[in-house]
Amino acid sequence: MLQHFTRTVTAADPLVAKALGCEKARQQDQIELIASENIVSRAVLDALGHEMTNKTLEGYPGNRFHGGGRFVDVVEEAAIERAKQLFGCGYANVQPHSGSQANLAVFFLLLKPGDKVLSLDLAAGGHLSHGLRANLSGRWFEPHHYGVDAESEVIDYDALEEQAEALRPKLIIAGGSAYPREIDFERMGAIARKAGAWLHVDMAHIAGLVAAGEHPSPFPHADVVTCTTTKTLRGPRGGVILTNNQDWFHRLQSAVFPGVQGSIHSQVLAAKAVCLGEALTGEFKTYAAQVKANAAVLAGALQKRGLRIVSGGTDTHLVLVDLSPKGITGKRAEAVLERAGITANKNAIPNDSPRPPEWVGLRLGAGAATTRGMKEAQFEALGGMIADLVDAEAAGETGAAVARCRAHAAELCAAFPAGAG
Ligand SMILES: *Cc1c(COP(=O)(O)O)cnc(C)c1O
Repeated sequence: MLQHFTRTVTAADPLVAKALGCEKARQQDQIELIASENIVSRAVLDALGHEMTNKTLEGYPGNRFHGGGRFVDVVEEAAIERAKQLFGCGYANVQPHSGSQANLAVFFLLLKPGDKVLSLDLAAGGHLSHGLRANLSGRWFEPHHYGVDAESEVIDYDALEEQAEALRPKLIIAGGSAYPREIDFERMGAIARKAGAWLHVDMAHIAGLVAAGEHPSPFPHADVVTCTTTKTLRGPRGGVILTNNQDWFHRLQSAVFPGVQGSIHSQVLAAKAVCLGEALTGEFKTYAAQVKANAAVLAGALQKRGLRIVSGGTDTHLVLVDLSPKGITGKRAEAVLERAGITANKNAIPNDSPRPPEWVGLRLGAGAATTRGMKEAQFEALGGMIADLVDAEAAGETGAAVARCRAHAAELCAAFPAGAG
């Protein structure tokens, strides 16, 4: 037997093996509250680490540019069927390598360079692939942004309607990565139609909630929908595009391949099929309901301790804290939480500084810790720990709070393992 086939990564590459081992331990020993993360199942990991990774294929099932694709066809077809069933739509493309690639394919399908795009402002929770100047989407198209109401911090649909009619954009994008509230897709669809625009819903963060019926579906209001299989959907890194528009579908297929991608990631398609299958189960529905309940408890616990929550709460997995009344930045909060074994990220809040080091938001999400089995009681405790750490950081006296919360976080991690060991 060739060593090539038998030597494990531990034997073959100590540097990488050590980093892999440390990362696994880090995931076990820290409580993950980054809203875009989750913990995939053993079955998803099995698919991702499978020999199917060796298979090169371009094109679509039944119409490939290489031979030997019949088993990859099986998993791609399963992923397509499950995505259609899960989200209640007619057509799905499961090949995008990421959420950003899926969005790029939508732009390639619907827009010409210079066309106007109207999307949620980045500071109000939008995503960089929706027209950030530093991203291709903002460089090749003409980005415009809508925001949230100054008081409620919820999307100002009336203002958006006016803006859309004055601007007449080609495309309106709904969805973002730090917007904690339910989005009124019906209203957005009506606004888009009135302004002569297409509605693109990017439900990357909330796809798992939509799948479980815990957030209203973008269909039938959206013309095209993109999502990631990561985040609340709890699958591998990758994107999906969904539509009901039969006329577009063939052009959409070519917008993905050869429009913005070459060969598929065969093993990821297998993992996508597994995660979409999991999301069809009753167990997943229970999980998604628990994610929302946990996020609501977390927001409430933080509020009880005097922290200001952007928009006053959450309807999703996501909680955005405004640290400005406490006089500390998101960066400082992120660092003190990390020292205590809790992982989260600094974030902009509506009207925040354009400079990330000055952002005053802290973004939290319930997806990953809920996967470990944590429920309301644990999220109540996490809220108290985060408030303690923020107060300690604001007072410039972090030692005792970090030690206490670190011990508490370690107890939670031991009681709710992040894997089978
Ligand atoms: C995470 C996210 C994406 C991008 O996904 P990647 O897989 O990281 O490229 C796109 N849109 C939104 C709204 C997101 O939150």
